[in-house]
Amino acid sequence: MNFELNEKQQDIRDLVRDYAQNELVKGAEERDRRGEFPSEVMNDLVEMGLTGIGVPEEYDGIGMGVSEKIVAVEELAKVDGAVGGIYSISSIFQQALLKYGTDEQKEKYLPEVTSGRAMGAFALTEANAGSDAGATKTTAILDEKTGEYVINGSKTFITTGKQAKYVCVFCLTSPELKTKGLSGIIVEKGTPGFTYGKIEDKMGIRSSETVELVFQNCRVPKENLLGTENKGFGIALSLLDTARIGVAAQAVGIAQGSLDLAVKYAKERMQFGKPVAQLQGIQWYLAEMATQIAAARALVFYAAKIADEGKRHTTEAAMAKLNASRMAREVTNLALQIHGGYGYMKDFPLERMYRDAKITEIYEGTSEIQKLVISRSLLV
Ligand SMILES: Cc1cc2nc3c(=O)[nH]c(=O)nc-3n(C[C@H](O)[C@H](O)[C@H](O)COP(=O)(O)OP(=O)(O)OC[C@H]3O[C@@H](n4cnc5c(N)ncnc54)[C@H](O)[C@@H]3O)c2cc1C
Repeated sequence: MNFELNEKQQDIRDLVRDYAQNELVKGAEERDRRGEFPSEVMNDLVEMGLTGIGVPEEYDGIGMGVSEKIVAVEELAKVDGAVGGIYSISSIFQQALLKYGTDEQKEKYLPEVTSGRAMGAFALTEANAGSDAGATKTTAILDEKTGEYVINGSKTFITTGKQAKYVCVFCLTSPELKTKGLSGIIVEKGTPGFTYGKIEDKMGIRSSETVELVFQNCRVPKENLLGTENKGFGIALSLLDTARIGVAAQAVGIAQGSLDLAVKYAKERMQFGKPVAQLQGIQWYLAEMATQIAAARALVFYAAKIADEGKRHTTEAAMAKLNASRMAREVTNLALQIHGGYGYMKDFPLERMYRDAKITEIYEGTSEIQKLVISRSLLV
């Protein structure tokens, strides 16, 4: 397998790297401190065409696929893990439409979302249904007379939940069937009965909005059903497969960003009359970090390639995420360590990167769930 970026991928890397290193980096600390959604940054990403990656031209996209998207995610996450995460996760809505939407749904939603006039979100998690999506309680019961689904329940921890104009909400359309009665339904912001609950105050990726969505007799036309009724569980899991590759790329980016800073700092920081980079203990840290990042990146690219070939990538995506997220936690820890006490201070970006890295072990399925997925493929 060729791990070298092709010409188009190099162009994306150069474009996003230039933006990230010269523009995005400037506000990263403030965005983290304020915990406010970075709307201006999202506009920049639209202008660069990044929201069009993976979307065909007929829907205002620029084509290509997961392999190109992860290049952009990594470059963004190198300087701001929250922005890398928002960019990656908000694209699940587009993928949901491309994979399962009707022609009408694609025409209605995709150009709007791709051109940045609207954002989309993915809402599966509930207060008592996290890893166990089968415990979903939110219902969407079809009112045969009006041809509308009536949604009741709530969803927790939804990324860009309040910013999004459209949310794909997973509800029980046939509650008696439990997991086999789950369906994805597109709900538009402003629909009566759809409100917002708690806005989370988080440890890391603080500018990435995380919100509770509340549905009380919220009526949605049945045309908003995504894919086949009662097939939502499989739909959600298949969307998560691809989304996990994005989270893994986010982890690689955060780790690479922290290594770059650690190398620079180690060359500048003088102790015992010489730069700490000349101490073998520090050199060994740097060598371990670089090796772990390279290995994790290769696995992420491998998973992306399989996804782009249209093959099932459940196991590869889980492996890529499990490995990259653990690596990012370890590498950001070492990068902070190399900065000594300064790494612990908010004057330096390391403590933010260390906090940001942690989320990659949790969202889009925890590391324990990735292990479950991987072991299932071994024990068939
Ligand atoms: C910042 C953030 C953003 C998020 N964004 C979204 C979003 O946009 N959309 C969305 O739908 N969700 C989102 N989530 C939810 C996220 O996917 C869940 O938090 C995650 O899947 C874990 O669920 P939980 O928090 O309920 O933990 P739980 O499922 O309660 O897990 C608790 C612990 O038990 C372990 N565990 C659970 N089951 C098993 C098992 N079978 N075997 C071994 N260990 C197990 C877990 O790994 C974990 O360590 C987000 C979460 C966060 C924190």
